[in-house]
Amino acid sequence: MDKAFEPRIIAFCCNWCAYAGADMAGVSRLKMPPTFRIIRVMCTGRVDPLFIIHAFVQGADGVIVAGCHPGDCHYISGNLKAKQRINFLKGLLKQTGLDKRLEMYYVSAGEAYRFQEVIEEFTERIRKLGPNPLKKLPPPKKEGNKREVLHTELLWIFKGLGITEIQPWQPSEEEIIPGFGTPVYDPDKCVGCGACYNNCPENVIMLEDVDGKRKIRHYYWSCITCRTCEEICPQDAIKVEEGFDLTAFLQQTVHDDIELPLVKCRICGKFFAPEPMVKEAKEKEIPLELLDVCPDCRKELIGKELVELLGHRGL
Ligand code: SF4
Ligand code: SF4
Repeated sequence: MDKAFEPRIIAFCCNWCAYAGADMAGVSRLKMPPTFRIIRVMCTGRVDPLFIIHAFVQGADGVIVAGCHPGDCHYISGNLKAKQRINFLKGLLKQTGLDKRLEMYYVSAGEAYRFQEVIEEFTERIRKLGPNPLKKLPPPKKEGNKREVLHTELLWIFKGLGITEIQPWQPSEEEIIPGFGTPVYDPDKCVGCGACYNNCPENVIMLEDVDGKRKIRHYYWSCITCRTCEEICPQDAIKVEEGFDLTAFLQQTVHDDIELPLVKCRICGKFFAPEPMVKEAKEKEIPLELLDVCPDCRKELIGKELVELLGHRGL
């Protein structure tokens, strides 16, 4: 152990409980190691997992999230949500060793001694662990949306710690948090209409017409489980499943979902609509002449018919 090592600990404290407890500890002049810096939040439920990852990336030796006891949350369940996130992060970071540098504590506004005990106990733990090994490395650039930043920083952490073979990890039921998941397609129901692709707010879904086929794929790692695709699908062909797969997230895995043959336009020969969609339209007795021509040729046909019609009327 490095005797000169004094940990730098970031403590996210809830305004209503732990922060007030820390304040009381200060006012009561309780002796505590000067190793922690408090970041006051209105609720521990406000602590985004990314805040914690950032703290480690920026060289914090340890991170504490301190909130109200279960049942005492000012916002009903913010502390329980925070606990779930901590469980998630601990699982996610297990193979990096950073999980040992992260802890959640419950401290009420009147528990000054408890706050002192927490700081002493956690400082001792971090002293034994030594400095955060990432602290000497220049932090990566923060670019893109939150999901992209999380991806960059996690990859940077694994690389920085020399972990080349990342072990697969998926959260258990106690560890899973909302906001991560994947759309699961039912190939027997999907007609390839593209509504899911057109309405996904995160551009997770890709649609391509190549070699006479419509292909639908999605980036596993960027789905935020907003369920827009599920709600908009006219065929009930998508179910969004919550979950997280560390390997797929880090590798930005693209999942092939659907491949459907396209029909050709009888006039220009261009592929233009998926077969199941045309079949469905035929079953609904939509006139055949509208179903075997592409939109461009259809416009032309309608134009010609209109001219003939107008001419016939002598207008
Ligand atoms: S999953 Fe639904 S919305 Fe998406 S292409 Fe298939 S039918 Fe259309
Ligand atoms: S759940 Fe939302 S983000 Fe995920 S694929 Fe569907 S529309 Fe896109």
